[in-house]
Amino acid sequence: MSFKDLKLSKPILRAIAEKGYDTPTLIQERTIPLVLDKKNVIASAQTGTGKTAAFALSILQLLLDKQDAPKKGKKIRALIVSPTRELAAQIQENFQVYATYTNLKTAVVFGGTSIEPQKDALKDGIDILIATPGRLLDLHKQDVINLDYIETLVLDEADLMLDMGFIDDIKKIERLCPKSKQTLLFSATMPYKVEELAKTILKDAERVEVTKQSSTSKNVEQLLYFVPKPKKIELCLHLIRNTIKNQRTIIFRRTKYGVDKLEKTLLKNGYEADSIHGDKSQSDRQVALNRFKKNEINILVATDVAARGIDISNLDTVINFDLPNVPETYVHRIGRTARAGLAGVAYSFCSADEKAYVIAIQKLINLQLDVIEEHPYPLDPKAKKEVHTSKKTGSKHKKGRKSEASKKKKKRWY
Ligand code: AMP
Repeated sequence: MSFKDLKLSKPILRAIAEKGYDTPTLIQERTIPLVLDKKNVIASAQTGTGKTAAFALSILQLLLDKQDAPKKGKKIRALIVSPTRELAAQIQENFQVYATYTNLKTAVVFGGTSIEPQKDALKDGIDILIATPGRLLDLHKQDVINLDYIETLVLDEADLMLDMGFIDDIKKIERLCPKSKQTLLFSATMPYKVEELAKTILKDAERVEVTKQSSTSKNVEQLLYFVPKPKKIELCLHLIRNTIKNQRTIIFRRTKYGVDKLEKTLLKNGYEADSIHGDKSQSDRQVALNRFKKNEINILVATDVAARGIDISNLDTVINFDLPNVPETYVHRIGRTARAGLAGVAYSFCSADEKAYVIAIQKLINLQLDVIEEHPYPLDPKAKKEVHTSKKTGSKHKKGRKSEASKKKKKRWY
């Protein structure tokens, strides 16, 4: 199938051709006709499947079809809600590229950055708005955004939005849009809570399911290292020094604290690294991402939430410094390598207390990871969990008493 068969207009086809896309991806092939047919759609597809273009191209087409409508000031007719700022910015970039030869206008709004320029952009009149939930509601409350003319609402990465606690915001946003709108829900996974949300806000939806091969992709070598927790940093440095070298690498850690600590160690050892996590300012996160995208640095350390959905191409290596406790997260992480048929390697570090995670991951991907036994920091196979406070000695802190700092730390771990 070609993009022409999908009944896209010339200006859109021209932009697609310039972007270098030859044929539609599976999610595009299945979703675009449904969206053009004004259907509600529930699509389970991860980043890397081409899902952004699946909704962006069809929305542009729908809006182009109605270009003849009176031009008395543009009204926002399509709204894309995204969980993270980076993803919102990336979706906006995509829309802008695909809309190059149309006069459709887009804007993006997200928190963590000054609100005034965003207000100005909105005042100029736009057709398509991409937003994170909090800033969107904020601007709506201030009467800067009118959602009365929304024809298509997209909820992107719905599972992540729910994980991040946006359920009430999403329901509110949905209610602020007209009842008659078309709704498209994209989610990497379809847990019960996403199904519940879909049931309440999407009537008679068509379902599209596309599983990316990368979870067990032949192109990704998946290597497992058993290593004592305190030796993980050394193993990481050893691999970067001897095996990975200058390859483009993302290192995933579970916590913001862990990300900061590892970044510092890498910098101290003379490596070009930067990091993204939820406690960094929006501009710092953007700078880090741009540096990585432009190849100014070759190592990015990230938490899952900060990195989710971000399209980083030409990635050679993923290091799972901490194994994720949710097995699907492993699939998201390694799905970032070996895109577009390139080869990639995923290194996973497993300490004694993470062995159960390996079992869950292997079950999910239906594949046994290759265990690398020849490395300088092997874990004693009999090692039990590395428990930090023994029952006998107990914690040096009394139960029920937490310092202010630790209470603050509890706030957001991603
Ligand atoms: P996404 O799943 O939306 O994050 O897209 C993943 C990557 O695939 C992005 O870099 C897109 O530019 C690229 N892409 C999207 N559609 C196509 C296509 N039809 N052909 C080739 N690459 C594509």
